[in-house]
Amino acid sequence: MKYADLHVHTFYSDSTFSPEEAVSCARDRGLAAIAICDHDSVDGIEPCRVIGGELGVEIIPGIELTVEKADAEIHILGYFMDCSLGWFRTRLKELQAGRIDRIRKMVEKLDSEGIRLNIDDVFKEAGRGSVGRLHLARAILKTGKVKTMRDIFGKYIGFNKPCYVANVKLTPREALDMVLRTGGVPVLAHPKCMGRDEYIPELIECGLRGIEAYHIDHAPSVIKRYEAMARENNLLITGGSDCHGLGKARILLGEVRVPYELVEKLKEESEKIRNEYR
Ligand code: AMP
Ligand code: ZN
Ligand code: FE
Ligand code: FE
Repeated sequence: MKYADLHVHTFYSDSTFSPEEAVSCARDRGLAAIAICDHDSVDGIEPCRVIGGELGVEIIPGIELTVEKADAEIHILGYFMDCSLGWFRTRLKELQAGRIDRIRKMVEKLDSEGIRLNIDDVFKEAGRGSVGRLHLARAILKTGKVKTMRDIFGKYIGFNKPCYVANVKLTPREALDMVLRTGGVPVLAHPKCMGRDEYIPELIECGLRGIEAYHIDHAPSVIKRYEAMARENNLLITGGSDCHGLGKARILLGEVRVPYELVEKLKEESEKIRNEYR
């Protein structure tokens, strides 16, 4: 059997893994394919493809976009987009620039809570990648002021906590349109983390094609709930580890995997979307 992990980050967003590390880890763990789904960036895809060609691991072009509601953070994955489109690249650059502004604002808020950071240290954590809260969290850990990631997110920078600042606001329709117009297949990432199933119908209305029912944070009962929801709504059921290299407690790559047939289904869906939207 061939397997794929459909949710992998690289250091082009907030994983510690270089393309070499991500792809060789995928090979070592016996995966036929991985989808590179960095936050607001497609820059890791080509470098991974080069290495994937050498190591025999298929690289699926992916992305992870953030949508915000007043009371929830929604992550939308996209698969098989045409990444060469100029407007798409421009929009991603805007989102990445918005992330820089946002991190500056969060650093100011942290300062007023007595956590002093040098902004350049945060940007150093991000390297060439699109900067995010995981980088900020790592810089906070290094100050020694807060001891655990759990406290950093739970008390300061988690969604709607005192030092949280919203991301550039994409509406669900904007995020889904952005994926669909590139020929990509939009999938709701880790719905349990969003915690608001009542938003799913709106996403379906806007063109959602799948739900990431299998995710490292989903217990068996949660998986069942989202599998059922996907079936009821004729959506694809996808899954991935959301590996961030060493950015999370351990290397998760391949711990969630789906049969390779799902990759074929995503490709077919992308073809359909291309005929419909372009
Ligand atoms: P950002 O894209 O900058 O909003 O950051 C999102 C990333 O922050 C996610 O991919 C997670 O890795 C991390 N994150 C968000 N909330 C938490 C949390 N409560 N605990 C640990 N990590 C979190
Ligand atoms: Zn991330
Ligand atoms: Fe996510
Ligand atoms: Fe992710």
